[in-house]
Amino acid sequence: MTMASDPKMIPQSGLLSAEANQAAALAGFGGVLTVDLDAIIANWRKLEKTAVPAECSAVIKADAYGCGAEQVARALNKAGCKTFFVATIEEARKVRAAVPEPAIYVLGGHFQNTGEHYAQINCRPVIGDLNELAEWDVFCRRTGWTGGAAIHIDTGMNRLGLTLAEAQAIIPRINAGDHGITLVMSHLVSAEQLNSPVNAKQLAAFRSIASEFSGVPAALANSSGIFLGAPFQFDLVRPGAALYGVNPTPEADNPMQPVVDLKARIVQIRNVERGESVGYGGTWTARRPTKLAIIAVGYADGYFRAASSNDGTRGAEVIVAGKRCPVAGRVSMDLIAIDITDLPPNAARRGHMVTLLGEGITVDELAHHFGTIGYEVLTSLGHRYARIYKGGNAVEPLGRPAPVAEQTPATPPIEQPASPPPPLLS
Ligand SMILES: *Cc1c(COP(=O)(O)O)cnc(C)c1O
Repeated sequence: MTMASDPKMIPQSGLLSAEANQAAALAGFGGVLTVDLDAIIANWRKLEKTAVPAECSAVIKADAYGCGAEQVARALNKAGCKTFFVATIEEARKVRAAVPEPAIYVLGGHFQNTGEHYAQINCRPVIGDLNELAEWDVFCRRTGWTGGAAIHIDTGMNRLGLTLAEAQAIIPRINAGDHGITLVMSHLVSAEQLNSPVNAKQLAAFRSIASEFSGVPAALANSSGIFLGAPFQFDLVRPGAALYGVNPTPEADNPMQPVVDLKARIVQIRNVERGESVGYGGTWTARRPTKLAIIAVGYADGYFRAASSNDGTRGAEVIVAGKRCPVAGRVSMDLIAIDITDLPPNAARRGHMVTLLGEGITVDELAHHFGTIGYEVLTSLGHRYARIYKGGNAVEPLGRPAPVAEQTPATPPIEQPASPPPPLLS
């Protein structure tokens, strides 16, 4: 995708919306992180369409991959998403406060004393161990709680989940009915590799065991798994990364829209002579009279030190006044130097904003420079930025029940339901 062809791109990196500039100036932040909730909704709808007739849930663990779990849950719930996954009960508590209705699964599962917590916020553990299941049963019998739980079956990850033999052992209980299991799931090892033989192996194993969980909805696919085709989609899909703009099909063009835009302020412009070094360790030497823009973001903000430029190795790029300019020297904790020698004179000035992520610089491009994956780029986004949320006011599309009222309150009331569990599949 080129910058010019995408009408949603901000045309000039030196300019921000009045709102963004105000937020940055008022609070004195070095950087401004903008999360486009409409792009997240568009990505969710695209995944939903790809997986239909399976239900499309949303994985919003780790603060929705750094994008803000409450904001994302609210926006996606309004758009029609009815099932969410988080990692911990504390994450679930925050999400429940934002969205009273949908099912929330906690991937981290149940411990001896967590039953009350699950009941209090009407969330469901994802259970991956027979002792854990026994403890959950004790809690449910003792309290009469019928909020439901998922069973996680390991089909090759060797991380969480019952073995296939253990899963077999609970089939009689499923057949007896009234089992309290609302979802059976497994997780793919190499979904982003189209041709990995592990995919077919896991699919066969899961298909066979899931078919014995009669009447229980089944889920296998993460973001990339959705693109492995209909057989992987079962009754529900669990995308995370793709919602936030990470490419779920690394071997092809990214079908998702970018979600996160990160800009930082130029705090100083300086000239260095040929032969001078820049930054800690003096690892980058100016080969010509050089103009630098020093910007107010560093590795403490999630801009990895691995993106540094040294003599002989080129690091990441930053967009200054609409042009890509390279990082010069080491990324430090709070600051980065950018070589802006090739810009027209006065194109960049102290106080201008530059773009570290967005305007064609993708999460996956940064991941490449950081020596990691887009997931880690997103979950590392720092907390020192002024945060701006764009959009998120979608109403459910036609064909779904219309929202009751035009105006949903900004903060929905926190109902602590002892009410019947929410439906998984509507
Ligand atoms: C994190 C996670 C997902 C989402 O994976 P993505 O690759 O981000 O789409 C789905 N299922 C489970 C069990 C997970 O832990």
